[in-house]
Amino acid sequence: MSSTRTRPTSTVDTFGPCAPDTVLVADELLREDLPSIPCPAADLIEGEMRRRGVRTRRGPLHIESTPAGAAGGPVVCWETTGEAAGIGAAARDHHGSVVVREVVDSWTAVSGPRSVLLAAPRSFCAGVERAIEIVERALEQRGGPIHVRKQIVHNRHVVAELEERGVVFVDELDAVPDGATVVFSAHGVSPAVRVEADRRRLDVIDATCPLVGKVHVEARRFAERGDTIVLVGHAGHEEVEGTLGEAPDRIVLVETPEDVAHLRVEDPERVSYLTQTTLAVDETDEVIDALRARFPSLRGPGSDDICYATTNRQDALRAIATESDLVLVVGSSNSSNSLRLVERAERCGTPAHLIDDARDIRPEWLAGVATVGLSAGASAPHHLVENVITVLAGLGPVSVSEHETTRETVSFTLPLPVRSP
Ligand code: SF4
Repeated sequence: MSSTRTRPTSTVDTFGPCAPDTVLVADELLREDLPSIPCPAADLIEGEMRRRGVRTRRGPLHIESTPAGAAGGPVVCWETTGEAAGIGAAARDHHGSVVVREVVDSWTAVSGPRSVLLAAPRSFCAGVERAIEIVERALEQRGGPIHVRKQIVHNRHVVAELEERGVVFVDELDAVPDGATVVFSAHGVSPAVRVEADRRRLDVIDATCPLVGKVHVEARRFAERGDTIVLVGHAGHEEVEGTLGEAPDRIVLVETPEDVAHLRVEDPERVSYLTQTTLAVDETDEVIDALRARFPSLRGPGSDDICYATTNRQDALRAIATESDLVLVVGSSNSSNSLRLVERAERCGTPAHLIDDARDIRPEWLAGVATVGLSAGASAPHHLVENVITVLAGLGPVSVSEHETTRETVSFTLPLPVRSP
């Protein structure tokens, strides 16, 4: 590596208000009469500490020569591209000091220059942006609390940020007070939920993505013409639950080509299919091929149900995966399209991991890795991706290049109740 690294004998003097079993993870290293050293990789240190069950606190760490044997863990500093970057953590007790040394060593062992290949498009799609804006506008117009049925989009950070601003997420409508405002999530709801909301006289704002709404309309149309509808999707996913509810007696769910072999339908001449919007394109094609082979008169939607955002992110990921030693996908574990991106990278033969944020990155993943491919699911905020680049730059110089496979221009209008006058 081109950076110079030193492990000073100096250690820590100031914890501030910090419990004895809490490790201080440095945001910056403060030096007497010298400029402070930033610690962009602090999230990495903190994440590894937490995985080891150690409580952490973030803050500046004063570096000062102390007598041998003084309490405190290691502080490591090195120069990257002329700018100092450091890693620092310190503990008050013996156990904490041992962990600090192990954790700092594990990250310095994988420090060095790296390339980051950014997939584009990545992160928020038009449906997610619209859903979040609907909740934000509802908050502005009506004040808190605003209830949202299910997670507005499948991302832990988005949900936590909205909760802090007065949004109450509920699993079902019975947790919403009569007459209160409730927002339906981007994944859509079944007609039974709408009926229940009417009965309770709830003030409904519908944030269902218009592309999910399109699948609902198709489900009703296919059911009205008497077809058996085969829905390709993942059991238990909220979008699938909503679509199934449009015609519960006429829709059957399949996930794999094997499922198709076991299907029983009323009339093999009257079968149509629909899909969840966030599936893997290639695997879904395999299921549809199996359906066509079994039901030659199979009919489908006029245009693909797998949405533009899902397709574009998978194409972009494929373009960088083969050139990467490791792929990181920012997204939550209940985000279908994020999970599909991880699978897409693995199908290209590249190790890949889903991370909620930079703190989930593990040092062993970076061993021997010179090029990191980076993407994010459609429900993951852009700033989390930027932060991954920032923390990697805390381990050594990072060169970033973006590989754009297409430019997205899709946007959706807001529903009337939150539209500006
Ligand atoms: Fe809509 Fe697709 Fe985004 Fe889901 S991933 S919210 S279907 S645009």
